[in-house]
Amino acid sequence: MSDHICSAGCNHFSHLNDADLQAEFAEARHSLRSSISGTKVSGKAGTGGVTQRPLPSKKEGENVKHYYIPANKDTVHWGYFSKSMDPLVKLDSGDYATMEAVTHHSFDDYERMIQGDAGVESIFHWDKDSKAIDRRGAGPMDHPAGAGGGMGVHVCTGPVYVNGAEPGDVLEVRIIDTMQRPSSNPDYRGKSFGVNVAANWGLQYHNLITEPKQREVITVYEVDATSQQTIAKAIYNYRWTPQTDPSGRVHPTIDYPGIPVNRNLITPNYDVLKGYEIPVRPHFGMVTVAPAEADIVSSNPPSYTGGNFDNWRTGKGATCFFPVSVAGAMFSIGDPHASQGDAELCGTAIECSLTGLFQFILHKKADLPGTKLYGLDYPLLETASELIVHGFSSPNYLQEFAGAEDPSALIKGSLDTAMTDAFNKTRRFFMDTRNLSEDEAISLISISVDFGVTQVVDGNWGVHAIIRKDIFPK
Ligand SMILES: [Zn+2]
Repeated sequence: MSDHICSAGCNHFSHLNDADLQAEFAEARHSLRSSISGTKVSGKAGTGGVTQRPLPSKKEGENVKHYYIPANKDTVHWGYFSKSMDPLVKLDSGDYATMEAVTHHSFDDYERMIQGDAGVESIFHWDKDSKAIDRRGAGPMDHPAGAGGGMGVHVCTGPVYVNGAEPGDVLEVRIIDTMQRPSSNPDYRGKSFGVNVAANWGLQYHNLITEPKQREVITVYEVDATSQQTIAKAIYNYRWTPQTDPSGRVHPTIDYPGIPVNRNLITPNYDVLKGYEIPVRPHFGMVTVAPAEADIVSSNPPSYTGGNFDNWRTGKGATCFFPVSVAGAMFSIGDPHASQGDAELCGTAIECSLTGLFQFILHKKADLPGTKLYGLDYPLLETASELIVHGFSSPNYLQEFAGAEDPSALIKGSLDTAMTDAFNKTRRFFMDTRNLSEDEAISLISISVDFGVTQVVDGNWGVHAIIRKDIFPK
């Protein structure tokens, strides 16, 4: 096995020194870029400002393109995945895309995270006359909490269609760079902001020791957007109070995404976490291809196709591998985070809009035997030093609960089953891709693989196994 698998279209990062790609991110650290120079992509995406331009070719006959996908009401889908959506772009293996991802928690501080940002304003627009994006979640449109029911909460950018991708193939997605989205409010120039929400779906909610019990608390964090290595600091927190949305529904708890928070109804407390500095590790909580099993699928529980698996290691320099389930793979991103700990205990990370530069490499089914991707039926993550296997309470809940009206509601979040699944997958990885016997695999796992709790808050709980690459024979 080689660490890197080449196939048609793979160009080994040969475009990463492209001056325009570098400039794009250098500029993005200071101000928002709505699009890069390039040609508008026609079709659905034309309305969302998606552009493409060829990258300088490095070898004869090469035709690699870079796409820019801004986040706005025309380029996002809210709270669900669907194999039958119109893709924003159709790109080839080897192409790059810069994609903006917006946090679904932006309205928890309108002034810092929405105001003045045309793309984010267009997504969250909601007054009594109109709601820019009605469906938020995979639930019914007449759900009492609002259209889509909040059964799935993430603002997802995409989908991206990869030409030639078919079920049985593997899509490699390299995360080349990430950048926090700068605030567009002139009062906060050079800063980015994110919120951590101790929410009703967190592990702490029924286990608080101080009064009042069963409270939801939002802590707003500031991140310096202009430097590479940066830290987050808390600015203030506030308790959620019942909020009435512009359609007249009252939300006693955070039961629907993007509820406008009435600042007159909350009490900011600026005396929080004084002196604490949290190193940020920007990453995407949700990276996914679309599953074949159902059409409109909640974005909340992770599954074999990826989704909201919330591993903080899914950041700059990491590579994700997904089993392709539908034609074109239909890749989307969302749930951008500035920082998160393993377990994501209170229900959220520092939910902070990010922009990422990605490269897509398609591995055809016939090329997989003898490689680390053989038999892949879960999202595999690779960093410079590790391979990370993802186990879940229900490895494929859409298949397990096929036919149910809401399969996501039937998952029993359990660390026992997630741990067993992580072990089963890791054992199979060593046996099928490294030709070890079961006894060799089990010994190696026990003495060198670190298992960790990925998250306990997304319905389908996660345990990951970290395989160090330096154990492999040289
Ligand atoms: Zn999140």
